[in-house]
Amino acid sequence: MRCPFCGNIDTQVKDSRPAEDHVSIRRRRFCPACGGRFTTYERVQLRDLVVIKSSGKREDFDRTKLERSIRIAMQKRPIDPERIDQMISGIVRRLESLGDTDISSKVIGEIVMESLARIDTVAYVRFASVYKNFQAADDFDKFVSELRPAGAVEE
Ligand SMILES: [Zn+2]
Repeated sequence: MRCPFCGNIDTQVKDSRPAEDHVSIRRRRFCPACGGRFTTYERVQLRDLVVIKSSGKREDFDRTKLERSIRIAMQKRPIDPERIDQMISGIVRRLESLGDTDISSKVIGEIVMESLARIDTVAYVRFASVYKNFQAADDFDKFVSELRPAGAVEE
């Protein structure tokens, strides 16, 4: 991080701690070149989240895929679409606030199941039953296609 006082690029982090909102990390920095001290806030950006699959493979987090799997699980359930949107945003916020950009697919699955369980049991069971096979298959596209109810038409 460049020093705002003298422009030196090589500044040091003296202290890191979660900010009060717990979605950012507050870092106190010191510039050895000019002695300047300043504070930065680090937030997780959605586009920077990386999914670590159980095989160890890394893949950029894709909100669209997450949404697709949740909407399939929720298909034909009497749940207000707005509520589903809120749930998806809530899941993404939770992922962002984990404080780490690398997130295992297992953690994502667990958070999704937890959220689904709270609003619709049927959707939860649909998701959870496929999710267990998915853990072994480690292939999200396969996961989504298995989750799709028979006869359902691709959007
Ligand atoms: Zn400086």
